[in-house]
Amino acid sequence: MPDQPCAIVRYEWGRWVADCPVADCWNAEHAGLWQGAVGMLTRDGMACRECGWQGAALWPAPELAEQLLAVLALRPMPSTRNWLPGETVADLLLQNTQHGIGVPELDGDGVLLMVADGRVVDVHPALAAASPVPLAIGA
Ligand SMILES: [Zn+2]
Repeated sequence: MPDQPCAIVRYEWGRWVADCPVADCWNAEHAGLWQGAVGMLTRDGMACRECGWQGAALWPAPELAEQLLAVLALRPMPSTRNWLPGETVADLLLQNTQHGIGVPELDGDGVLLMVADGRVVDVHPALAAASPVPLAIGA
């Protein structure tokens, strides 16, 4: 049985997006509401409005998605909030640093992100509040 095509989800311009996996179809769908339109990409899969393809979508694991969004939320321009499959949280933090996006002044313990074994294990409440989606790190 051949492998079924699958839509690969990435984060682009501050929203989740996937290209249609059908050859010669150049459509992409987004998740949720963006610029007044509801996309046809959901956690359950994707439906292409151009060619009619419907199938599974490969998302990052929820915990990873939360961590990625926490780091991307530090970027002031939505157009720069991008992630491609294979990029790590550390990659995004490095990109932030390379573009002069530092750690904001924080009250309390001053820890923005606590990383252990290559993954974020804690997020400062100020950062969680800045995230475009609710964060539930460690939940
Ligand atoms: Zn299509």
